[in-house]
Amino acid sequence: AAKDRGRARLELFSDELYERAEKRMRIESDLRVALREQQLFVEYQPQVRLKDGRVVGVEALVRWKHPKFGVVPPGDFIGVAEDCGLINGIGRLVLEQSCRQLADWTRLAPGRPLAMTVNVSPRQLSDPAFFTELRQVLADTGIDPRALCLEVTESAMMRAPAEIVQLLDQIRQLGIYIAIDDFGTGHSSLSRLRDMPAEVLKIDRSFVDGLGSETGDTAIVSSILSLAYAMGKHTIAEGVEQPEQAALLLRMGCEAAQGYFFSRPVAAEQIPPLLTGALWEARSPGAPHSAPH
Ligand code: C2E
Ligand code: MG
Ligand code: MG
Ligand code: MG
Repeated sequence: AAKDRGRARLELFSDELYERAEKRMRIESDLRVALREQQLFVEYQPQVRLKDGRVVGVEALVRWKHPKFGVVPPGDFIGVAEDCGLINGIGRLVLEQSCRQLADWTRLAPGRPLAMTVNVSPRQLSDPAFFTELRQVLADTGIDPRALCLEVTESAMMRAPAEIVQLLDQIRQLGIYIAIDDFGTGHSSLSRLRDMPAEVLKIDRSFVDGLGSETGDTAIVSSILSLAYAMGKHTIAEGVEQPEQAALLLRMGCEAAQGYFFSRPVAAEQIPPLLTGALWEARSPGAPHSAPH
């Protein structure tokens, strides 16, 4: 009987594995079509400067309008795209589209500086064509390289071999900024962090969640902020959903934040109206100026 149970479990397990493998293959082949048929598009989430509530940048986030399943979030396909190499094509599309978009917005309101942040996978950074493509996009769109920021996750950054760190340095020398995404989740070593050509730390949403209620989270956010300040790096908090979190972040010296509280990621057309006013007004304007500037 034990043998039977064992076999039953084994079959169940392989069924699951099979289904998962099949699902991934399905996603992969649908994604190839998606790239060809332009089913991928980009939404933009505002990034707000906490001291005055102004939108100072946006993060480009890819979406997939699947003909059968509707809008699929990136969490459901980026991993597959990374494994099968399609991430390079997707990344190129997002980079081109978001830089063109930034050029349009800048033409509409030349006096108002706005930064565009684009997520980049490690696989894109290992692509020998990436740097050339990046320079090509800058040339084609004419955007100021200092208005572009590339986000690499902390875990990818910490695993990056010397060639990738060198590439990031070269990118930095073009004027483009580098941000470390999901900071706090990727086991940074301090010496490695010091040597990284990244000037922005993005505090992971998981710590912002418990800000003010969980002492552990508050302590983590506070130590990330002091570390950033000591290293002369800029800070953005992710996943702000409550006004109390925004107020606390401002008090703790965080410079900028994004999250559903300010705005969800939205279609490009919805961004310009958000640029004229403030998305938030800090209740106590006399907050301490402990941030880098
Ligand atoms: P991420 O770069 O850390 O992006 C932040 C994610 O948090 C986004 O999810 C955003 O919609 C979500 N978010 C923003 N504010 C809030 C909030 O207040 N509460 C909650 N619960 N969530 C919030 P999204 O768009 O589903 O993207 C998930 C991840 O997929 C991204 O995490 C990023 O790692 C990856 N991704 C998205 N677009 C791209 C892309 O173009 N290229 C690459 N390589 N990865 C991408
Ligand atoms: Mg990101
Ligand atoms: Mg993140
Ligand atoms: Mg993330």
